[in-house]
Amino acid sequence: MSKNYATVNPCTMCMPLGSVMAFRGIENTMPFFHGSQGCSTYMRLHLAHHFREPIDIASSALSENGAVYGGGANLKQGLRNVIKGYDPRIIGIATTCIAETIGEDIPQLIKEFRQEYPGHSDIILIPVSTPSFKHSHEEGYNETLRAVVQTLAKKDQPSDRFNLIVAAIVSPEDVRYLKQMLDDCAWSNILLPDTSETFDAPVVDEPPKIPVGGTRIEDIKDTANSKETVTIGSCSTIIGAGEYLDCKFNIPNIVLPLPIGLEYSDIFVSKIEMITGTALSRKYELERGRLLDAMIDSHKYVAHVKTAIFGNTDIVIGVTKLLTELGMQPEVIATGSDNQVFEKAARKLAPDAVVLCNTDFSGIHSEIKKKEIELMIGPFTGRQISKAEHIPLVRLGFPNHDRMGASRQLILGYEGAMRLTDTITNTILENK
Ligand code: SF4
Repeated sequence: MSKNYATVNPCTMCMPLGSVMAFRGIENTMPFFHGSQGCSTYMRLHLAHHFREPIDIASSALSENGAVYGGGANLKQGLRNVIKGYDPRIIGIATTCIAETIGEDIPQLIKEFRQEYPGHSDIILIPVSTPSFKHSHEEGYNETLRAVVQTLAKKDQPSDRFNLIVAAIVSPEDVRYLKQMLDDCAWSNILLPDTSETFDAPVVDEPPKIPVGGTRIEDIKDTANSKETVTIGSCSTIIGAGEYLDCKFNIPNIVLPLPIGLEYSDIFVSKIEMITGTALSRKYELERGRLLDAMIDSHKYVAHVKTAIFGNTDIVIGVTKLLTELGMQPEVIATGSDNQVFEKAARKLAPDAVVLCNTDFSGIHSEIKKKEIELMIGPFTGRQISKAEHIPLVRLGFPNHDRMGASRQLILGYEGAMRLTDTITNTILENK
């Protein structure tokens, strides 16, 4: 395999950006970057263009002085400003490259902050290390979820709930679908993180400074007392929230692929039926039947279509699975993350496909050209290849800056698979 010494159009994003996506799913939490101001500006814009929502991220705004002499003073002043301006219950402190490069000791700075400002002892501070030169936004997201349970989860009376850790970045609509399904089937749970409202809020006359919604802090504390954890998203290479709860509190953790497509949705449902002892409701049995019908109807149009799939690891794996169920031909399967788990899973699903990890869009482009691809599926960042090669692109996942409705894109469960099947089929028909 050839080795690139420069990245041209990355297929991944900064690690602290993932931390915002996790912190934003926790009730009354303000994300804060310890680092230079540009990092927070760039990530706010990126998120705002995708979700079409105002996204506030505080920053300690490190300058040359901070980089040379340490940024403790900036961090402490920044925390005080955020407490005064936003009145949060939690401040999630993620590091950016500069803070990591100069070796800032955040736990020590938090200790000093506690001593210097005892009046703010009720504010929960959650530090998470997110050096972008080490990992991508996906690892940043999972590191943050672990840091959240590490800080908050407390052993108490056992409960009959199970934890549902969403260990992959999905849309607010996906989270709404999961919540609705859990409610409809009376499956008692704690879902973490809940971005269903915080990244897709209704218009109100006076918007709150921190969006309403997110997983309740009291519920996160109680994750240590649940009977089991189901982690959806199986590509993470770091110790996640579910694994931490297992090691620390002996709560068994089942790791499943994201429920995308028929089989992965069936696995998800059957595991939860087993844990709760309650069957899936008729509403979803009917949905499953309609999905099968849609797959049969579409098969003659989509079979053997050569497809390239790229983007976030777990979504790419789930979509590849759906394509194989539809009789399509995944030929290029790619992610920007350096991820052996992904590589193994992709090779197993499509042994004849080219699997690219730690790649950029220049690498994806050359494989797409070689393989005579007929359809591309992935984030909007693949649009230049789509245009250059005249290959239709189904925009899927994060980021999506040039089309509306990213927050309402559903890909999970039977309903999500049905919508995805229709979109893929119609895109192929449109371009025949
Ligand atoms: S790569 Fe590092 S310095 Fe650049 S925006 Fe991302 S976090 Fe900031």
